Amino acid sequence: MSDAGASPLIEAVIRAKTYRRPDGAEMEAVRGITLAIARGEFVCLIGPSGCGKTTTLRILAGLDRAFEGEVTPDPATLSIGVAFQEPRLLPWRTVEENIRLVLPKARRSMDLAPLIARFGLSVHAARYPGELSLGLARRVSLARAMALEPDLLVLDEPFVSLDAQAAADLRRYVALAADGGTSVLMVTHNVREALELADRVVLLAPRPTHVVEEVCLALPRAMRDGPWIEAERAALAARFPLLREG
Ligand code: ADP
Ligand code: MG
Repeated sequence: MSDAGASPLIEAVIRAKTYRRPDGAEMEAVRGITLAIARGEFVCLIGPSGCGKTTTLRILAGLDRAFEGEVTPDPATLSIGVAFQEPRLLPWRTVEENIRLVLPKARRSMDLAPLIARFGLSVHAARYPGELSLGLARRVSLARAMALEPDLLVLDEPFVSLDAQAAADLRRYVALAADGGTSVLMVTHNVREALELADRVVLLAPRPTHVVEEVCLALPRAMRDGPWIEAERAALAARFPLLREG
């Protein structure tokens, strides 16, 4: 459900991003990316390992300001929920407390039961992170990111290191978050999961990265099935040899 034509929710123009290596040499990670996300749009960034996906995501989310270019509006003026690969839950707090802690003071005492139920976490609400599988911990981290009712949800390879069932479960909850109208920017190196979820897939080149191609997927998420995903993947792989491994 994208809002094409209207002004984007957020737009990043990254002319260049360089890191300084320990030996002092400069290393160029990004060279020329323009990435706009419409309200309600689900955008996936796909690219090879080390190409600059996380770098791009951190810049767009306002977590890294040391680059050449600009993000409009300033990400600090938007509500952005971020779920990292590492769930980053406080081990001495329950699932519910971990979610509650991100709420602004005025909303600290709000009833979290509906959100917790929506993410299938009711039976885990009183458990501690150490008792959870990685898949469940990521789901808590996703629910926590959604507790702020963000304008934009940012996910960095959320399904990595999960078994097939846990990954499929979590994909369902990410789709649920997006179906509620939240814009999503998700980084992945897995073409199939991008094709399952995204409204638009942005293919990135190896480092220093730039946009190779943008592919809009018109078929509604709920109508996509295995054969459709496989056909789209094969068509993309035929055009972009970089994607053949996926
Ligand atoms: P991706 O997420 O696509 O795997 P990253 O954006 O994490 O790639 O990294 C892009 C490149 O920048 C890689 O070569 C990585 O080693 C390097 N890099 C990332 N973060 C830093 C950093 N803080 N300092 C130096 N180099 C970095
Ligand atoms: Mg990364």
